[in-house]
Amino acid sequence: MLRVGIGHDTHRLAEGRPLILAGVRIDHSRGLVGHSDADVVLHAVADALLGAAGLGDIGEHYPDTDPQWKGLDSARLLGEVVEQVGRAGWRTINCDLVIHAQEPKLGLHKAALRENLARLLRVEPSFVNVKAKTGELVGPIGRAEAIACEAIVLIDSQS
Ligand code: MG
Repeated sequence: MLRVGIGHDTHRLAEGRPLILAGVRIDHSRGLVGHSDADVVLHAVADALLGAAGLGDIGEHYPDTDPQWKGLDSARLLGEVVEQVGRAGWRTINCDLVIHAQEPKLGLHKAALRENLARLLRVEPSFVNVKAKTGELVGPIGRAEAIACEAIVLIDSQS
């Protein structure tokens, strides 16, 4: 059986924070603000996986009101979601992403993001696709106030 899931996330950009996307540290003057490391890519992918498996969303499993998740490494969060989805009998087939960022330009980083996300999802890099769009200078993304990500995943039953 095949199932599909969608995920979305947005975090605000601010000075004094590291920028981490898909678990990769990107050299930039600002980073994303959040209770965890605010990795919009891994949050969107984790929600897409949970959604495909019918297991809710990361807000239920990792509430931002819970101090144990403060500063959480989102690679660990996605690892736990992959485990949880796997225990429910599912494995990832492929994942496609759109990252919305006016800055920094992500073209040079897409390959690294793809490699690391594939590793976390336990698939070959050719089964992960990363697209980056600017906000065309419009709205909060276009003013470089935030970065957002949309993810879609396909999973199939392992039996
Ligand atoms: Mg988030």
